[in-house]
Amino acid sequence: MKIGCPKEIKPQEFRVGMTPDAAREAVARGHEVLIQTGAGLGAGFADEDYLAAGARIAADAAEVFAASGMIVKVKEPQPAERRMLREGQLLFTYLHLAPDPEQTRDLLASGVTAIAYETVTDARGGLPLLAPMSEVAGRLAPQVGAWALQKANGGRGVLLGGIPGVRPANVVIIGGGVVGTAAARVAVGMGANVTVLDRSVPRLSYLDDIFMGKLTTQYASGAAVADLIRSADMVVGAVLVPGAAAPRLISRAQLATMPPGAVLVDVAIDQGGCFETSHATTHEAPVYEVDGILHYCVANMPGAVARTSTQGLGNATLPFLLALADKGWRRACAEDPHLLNGLNTHAGRLTYAAVGAALDLPV
Ligand code: NAD
Repeated sequence: MKIGCPKEIKPQEFRVGMTPDAAREAVARGHEVLIQTGAGLGAGFADEDYLAAGARIAADAAEVFAASGMIVKVKEPQPAERRMLREGQLLFTYLHLAPDPEQTRDLLASGVTAIAYETVTDARGGLPLLAPMSEVAGRLAPQVGAWALQKANGGRGVLLGGIPGVRPANVVIIGGGVVGTAAARVAVGMGANVTVLDRSVPRLSYLDDIFMGKLTTQYASGAAVADLIRSADMVVGAVLVPGAAAPRLISRAQLATMPPGAVLVDVAIDQGGCFETSHATTHEAPVYEVDGILHYCVANMPGAVARTSTQGLGNATLPFLLALADKGWRRACAEDPHLLNGLNTHAGRLTYAAVGAALDLPV
């Protein structure tokens, strides 16, 4: 198969869909790999690295999209990229269609067969292509939140770990999945007073076990959230209802109950955000303020650490990428129900129920 990997064009996105290692493995199995010139630079991979792996270098995105049967990317195709997709072509990337009617409309109009990283599943009920990026975003969340809490950056001037004699910051993490657990690990490591809320009692039990008393767990009732945010210095939004828009867990009216200068880090912003006042931001202007509360809502947080993220994502996507290239998407999906769960659009039809429900479209 001809596999194409264009340079990402979303603002501040420095990751790339294929590493030179991935290209080498695909080439070794008889596939042709076409990489847009400069595509890997943001992650520290030069054209020469891809050439040495046996890939070819394309002059521009148009050449990649025109020549390739499968397009491998990181972020959802931007409008200019969507215009280059066609029926019979396979798109393998993050899509996050539920909160994005325009992109959904364009993908359906193009007829492309689109497999979304974020809805591919594994045997344990996890999301193996979301997990490595969730690990990154979760570990970054307390780091960026701590920065925003500094006075010069608009925050309330609180040090996450406190000092002897001065209590540490209160960090409330809503959602104790991969993002929430990674955020908790770093926030605990920085010395904060951490509470994790979730609606899954088995998950809370797991967190209680692994953190061995270093954090508090609480069931995520509306009342518990309302109570905890009153004294929170930082709230990390890390909930997920797979394939669906994120539930809104803190209303605008509730911001007035929080300490002025507190920080909301809405990691779930790529699914629409879990706070009423969230809207997506970029790494260029990541933080804004509403009613005295700072909001960090960068939809592609892992792009900030592009090299780590590209390597982590590449490790997770490679087996699926090779299966799709070796067998074609029909056979690969027929043989692997977890990969089939990634199928979001095909030949003008929506094929993922939760996206249809979120956008009120037939599936
Ligand atoms: P996950 O499935 O591992 O965890 C989600 C957790 O949320 C689960 O434990 C679930 O029980 C819990 N949950 C669901 N509804 C809840 C509610 N109402 N209250 C409390 N908990 C609730 O998912 P994840 O991998 O941790 O991802 C979390 C979010 O982060 C997703 O929206 C994902 O898309 C997003 N994400 C964003 C970025 C970014 O750059 N902004 C990067 C990676 C992941």
